[in-house]
Amino acid sequence: MKILYILPLAIMLSSCSSVKNQTSSGTGKLDTQLLKDVEVLSSDAYQGRKTGTKGAEMARAYIRERFQKLGLKSYPQNVNYAQEFTFNSRGGTKVNGTNLIGYIPGKTTNIIVVSAHYDHLGVVKDQVFNGADDNASGSAGLLKIAAYFAKNKPVNTIIFAAFDAEEMGLQGAKAFVANPPVAINTIAVNLNMDMISHSDKGELYVSGTFKYPELKKFVDTNRKEIKVILGHDDPKLGHDDWTNQSDQGAFNAKNIPFLYFGVEDHKDYHKATDEYSTITRQFFSDAANVVLDVVKSIDKQSQLQETLKDKMLMRDNPQKVNKF
Ligand SMILES: [Zn+2]
Repeated sequence: MKILYILPLAIMLSSCSSVKNQTSSGTGKLDTQLLKDVEVLSSDAYQGRKTGTKGAEMARAYIRERFQKLGLKSYPQNVNYAQEFTFNSRGGTKVNGTNLIGYIPGKTTNIIVVSAHYDHLGVVKDQVFNGADDNASGSAGLLKIAAYFAKNKPVNTIIFAAFDAEEMGLQGAKAFVANPPVAINTIAVNLNMDMISHSDKGELYVSGTFKYPELKKFVDTNRKEIKVILGHDDPKLGHDDWTNQSDQGAFNAKNIPFLYFGVEDHKDYHKATDEYSTITRQFFSDAANVVLDVVKSIDKQSQLQETLKDKMLMRDNPQKVNKF
């Protein structure tokens, strides 16, 4: 999620050499590829994947290779999946960012954008902020979903967007919606993952149905293995409304319906201890399956725009409906 503040560093030191044995609940099945992707991306070699650093470049190389092996296509303007962009940092300096955009073509003109940011905070005062949960976990979830649809062709075209510079203010997602590789009015929905691997309570939140109630029917909230809870999306909640706290905010700003998947802030949030050894592995495997099932369920709709976006636009802005 977006950085809001950095907690004092004194409590950040902890042992990080071994992965604890965690009691399994849930399905009992661990997704080894999913875990491997997080373990690699959040290893010290990647130096916290801060935008503009060698570590971020290494993360892109890893994700790009996985995209290629899965056979994801690249739009002509995104050579080797890359969408480059620049923005001004909060300090006023010019920063270069790079999104990776791959896709699997479907049979309709509708687009689903599945997204996750791969950047994190880098090295802060000599400590590597590995960002295992934030957001190597969402990046791994993105790869898992891409792998599923590479084998099981989707009804709608699915874009897989690994965004850069989320931690600097959703910059990659903003660059994407400002300059998308497809007509923006063909994007029916954004499904964004940011922090899906760390919940001691076994709770995954799904935000977005407050504004877009038509999306509720695609979310199974009766899972046995973990709790799937709709919420954190009512503007009255103030800071607990997560609509603008990760990349889905850029889509929402363009009136594109979204679902955001994530956990509540935890003891390791935006600390050096957010690393592979502290994620809850069984929860993560189960949470990634929940997200995959939502994507599958939404993708079954061959009339996505008609069932989602036009209906919502009609309700909110009857004069602004874009037919194509
Ligand atoms: Zn994040």
